[in-house]
Amino acid sequence: MNYKTHHVAALIGAELWLLHTHQPVLSWQAAAALLGAYLAGPIADMDHPQSEVGRKVWPLAVVMNALGIRHRTFTHSLLFLAGLWAALQLLPIPEVVRWAIWIGYATHPLMDLLNPQGVELFWPLRVRVRLLPEILAIPVDSIAETLLRGVMTAVSYVLLFLYVHPAVDHLPLVGPVVSEVAEVILQMMPAAIQTWVR
Ligand SMILES: [Zn+2]
Repeated sequence: MNYKTHHVAALIGAELWLLHTHQPVLSWQAAAALLGAYLAGPIADMDHPQSEVGRKVWPLAVVMNALGIRHRTFTHSLLFLAGLWAALQLLPIPEVVRWAIWIGYATHPLMDLLNPQGVELFWPLRVRVRLLPEILAIPVDSIAETLLRGVMTAVSYVLLFLYVHPAVDHLPLVGPVVSEVAEVILQMMPAAIQTWVR
C-alpha cells in the first residue's frame, strides 16, 4: 500500500482506540494520539529507499538494504512491533498516546498483508504471509487500492463523527439530532465494533 493508504489506516486504528478508551475529545491527548498514529502509519516503509518515507530517511533505507534487510521484512514484523512497544515505554507520554502510536504503526503490516507480495510477518523467518489469494490481492498504487482508500476514508470520517459527537450533544437543537444520528450509525455497525466502542 502507498503512504496515503497507510495514513488513513492508522487514523482508523487511532479512532477506534480513542472511542474504546472514551478519551475526552477536547483534550491534547486526543489530538496527540490522532497525530501520532497518523504519522506512524507509513513509517514501516523506511526499509524502501523509493517509498515516500524512505526518500525522507534515505540514508537509513540505504543502510538497511546494505545490511540485507529487504522491503516488508524486519520493519513489518511482529518482532519489530514488540521492540517498538518496548521502546515506546521509555517515552514520557500518556498511555493513550503510546498505544495510539503503536496501533498506528501496527496497521501498516496488517494493510500490507493485502498486497500480492505479502509480508514477512514472522521475520527473521523468511515466510511471506498474504491474506488474499493472488488474484484478489491489491497491488500498490492500483485502482483497487484507490477504491479501498476511498472506502477507508469514508469509514474514518464516520468514526471521527462518532468520536466527536459527545462534544456537541449538550447543545440546544443541534445536540439531540447529532446524538440520534450517531446512535443510528452505531446500530448499523457490526456487533463487535459496537461492543468495542461503547
Ligand atoms: Zn509497507
